[in-house]
Amino acid sequence: MPSLNNFGEGLLRGLKVTLNHIGRKWITVQYPEQRLNMSRRIRGTDIIWDRESCISCRACERACPVQCISMAVSRGEDKKLKTDDITVDLGLCIFCGLCIESCPTGISIYLGYNYTNTTHRCSTFSGAKTGNTPSDGRCREIVRSNDELLVDDAARPRSGYYRPEISSALPPQTLLIDQTTYLEDLRKRGLK
Ligand code: SF4
Ligand code: SF4
Repeated sequence: MPSLNNFGEGLLRGLKVTLNHIGRKWITVQYPEQRLNMSRRIRGTDIIWDRESCISCRACERACPVQCISMAVSRGEDKKLKTDDITVDLGLCIFCGLCIESCPTGISIYLGYNYTNTTHRCSTFSGAKTGNTPSDGRCREIVRSNDELLVDDAARPRSGYYRPEISSALPPQTLLIDQTTYLEDLRKRGLK
């Protein structure tokens, strides 16, 4: 039979910890209503590509340690290389940034500033006949191809990772010391 000598001691310790934290500033936010600014050099969950400046050298493809970039390159009538197709399998990508660092133009490929990739459901996983399932059976939310990677897609802001000119234009990272609580934030916005 267990000893009853320390009966209630654990409960009191737990209550003491709880009481010590009451009144402290919150260190979490009410996501998604509140969002912290990430580091300007975040390795966001996206790869963004700029067709205009890309010279189709395939350095990014060769630099990728997991070979998740696939490029189809040919020569145009002017004998210059051109990219016919590029895909990035974000399901394989480890966001190491080596493709960004290897790009000789310095402006043709970026990591994204985004860290939320949960708004879409891949129809190929559920097998749903939504009409959106690609003919090759691959999940477009993970495998991003040519047009989906283009840099002028405003929905995919770029990270300043290895790109200082982008970094300086991004908002400063939210530090916990500057953080407002959810209720403070609502009051500031006149919602409470
Ligand atoms: S970030 Fe790394 S793993 Fe992802 S595509 Fe670039 S080189 Fe490949
Ligand atoms: S390394 Fe840069 S320029 Fe070369 S193919 Fe990749 S994105 Fe284009």
